[in-house]
Amino acid sequence: MEKCIFCKIIKKEIPSSIVLENDKIFAFNDINPVSPNHILVIPKRHIDSITDSCESDKEILGELLLSARDIAKKLKISDYRLVINNGREVGQSVFHVHVHLLGGRFFSWPPG
Ligand code: 5GP
Ligand code: ZN
Repeated sequence: MEKCIFCKIIKKEIPSSIVLENDKIFAFNDINPVSPNHILVIPKRHIDSITDSCESDKEILGELLLSARDIAKKLKISDYRLVINNGREVGQSVFHVHVHLLGGRFFSWPPG
């Protein structure tokens, strides 16, 4: 996706603080963190949103969650919140599927 900011980050056309990279997954620190740990975990293959995902995305969506788990373990973040904003109304601003890995502070529930 030519105009997608996260695709540009994956291609390193835009610099980022990389946390993990392999053939399928890319993870980097959020530019505007809302908690001491705020990492974005994204598939290298562009998918607009969870709504736009399909059966064949099953494996990569599983990889996203397992990668978030592995990153948290490596960084010794024991408790964390994983967030996927899906759609503008609930806060999705970048339309390339991503998991927010949030930790390092207390989070209340339910969210506001
Ligand atoms: P969303 O609002 O779509 O759930 O999350 C998008 C996230 O991407 C936001 O938390 C925002 O701070 C982050 N973000 C947007 N542009 C950039 C960028 O150029 N670099 C980095 N590292 N994060 C970005
Ligand atoms: Zn993209």
